[in-house]
Amino acid sequence: MIYKRSSQLFAEAEKVIPGGVNSPVRAFKAVGGTPIFVQRAKGAYMYDEDGNRLIDYINSWGPMILGHAFEPVVQAVIEKAKLGTSFGMPTELETQIAALAVSMVPNIDKIRFVNSGTEACMSAVRLARGFTKRDKIIKFAGCYHGHSDSFLIQAGSGAVTFGSPSSPGVTEGTAKDTLLAIYNDLENVKTLIEANKEQIAAIIVEPVAGNMGCIPPNEGFLEGLREMCTANGILLIFDEVMTGFRLAKGGVQELFNIKADIVCFGKVIGGGLPVGAFAARNEIMNYLAPLGPVYQAGTLSGNPLAMAAGLAMLQALNNDAAIFDRLAAKTAYLHEGIERVLKANNVVFTINRIGSMISVHFDAAPVVDFKSAANGDNESFKKFFHGLLQEGIYIAPSAYETWFITDALSYEDLDFTIQAVDKVSKTL
Ligand SMILES: *Cc1c(COP(=O)(O)O)cnc(C)c1O
Repeated sequence: MIYKRSSQLFAEAEKVIPGGVNSPVRAFKAVGGTPIFVQRAKGAYMYDEDGNRLIDYINSWGPMILGHAFEPVVQAVIEKAKLGTSFGMPTELETQIAALAVSMVPNIDKIRFVNSGTEACMSAVRLARGFTKRDKIIKFAGCYHGHSDSFLIQAGSGAVTFGSPSSPGVTEGTAKDTLLAIYNDLENVKTLIEANKEQIAAIIVEPVAGNMGCIPPNEGFLEGLREMCTANGILLIFDEVMTGFRLAKGGVQELFNIKADIVCFGKVIGGGLPVGAFAARNEIMNYLAPLGPVYQAGTLSGNPLAMAAGLAMLQALNNDAAIFDRLAAKTAYLHEGIERVLKANNVVFTINRIGSMISVHFDAAPVVDFKSAANGDNESFKKFFHGLLQEGIYIAPSAYETWFITDALSYEDLDFTIQAVDKVSKTL
């Protein structure tokens, strides 16, 4: 495949956009080469500026769960756009999508819409701090909650001390309020809680991790977090920006029957438009302005185009009783096929999978936390990525990312992908 025009467009972009991209992972830094510029997409396929067709396993990092340019979403956006694109005043549409979301997700009474997953997580933490009147939070290494300051934190020196900034521009003052824990390690969390008694407002977690590859929680991990939070007056925040409306109608809360105190959404809930949301029971949500003292706002929050897209998406998912089983079956089929050919070609690997999320790691050891996710052979991954790209298959340009399976993928697409993996894995 030829990427001549994409390369030219990237060179133009680099002159006026830092690194040529508006979000860093798009720049292909982890895999080398120059990014592909997309012209359009439909169903399971993207078409780039050079006329190549790519089978898409990223789907805008999750939102396009029913495929690209899903007709009901496109129609809803077109119809709404004709009526005006933003008012900064309430619309009935906001209540409709809120009511539907509240009916689909367990354990929430009210939901507030924002413009991104970053905003949702940032606001959820502020709400938790206001509600508990405590400052510190615990987050897990390798979990991503967007790019707000409190989350750009790496482990400081000593396991029990506070974190340090992982990006210049984040102050030490902010970093000291974020404690870093190890995913799937309850003892570690317990130690942090004991060393910071009555100071921790919230534990925020991806209840199924998706930003260090796909890492499902070990048995008992989420239950353990729930118990520790309840026992210590800490709020449990499930960041379901990736898993919400993807792993089940009601997300991980439903899947594992565990109640979080605050839940964050993004990606699927916006149907491909910029939407995030956070939700909780009344006692917590009523703490938010204008009802309560915790401030949060947004000029474009609840934007009619975004809400129309999100509503059409949630309705489609809500009305299709078989959707999540169908997605899981396709993902399992892909898993079995890839496993078969990688084994036949003597590749060392681990595959993690849950529902419609799957990740391939070039390492034999189980991948259960950030450390084990970082152990994979990145050289193999780079070859794998570029090899698949040459076959017309697009996976994320980083070994730390999950593949997202969409309902638009046919079994022929999956077979084609498995054959391509067979071919590419002979070169690893
Ligand atoms: C993508 C993601 C975010 C950030 O969402 P943005 O819309 O990119 O700001 C937060 N949390 C999780 C779990 C995510 O996957």
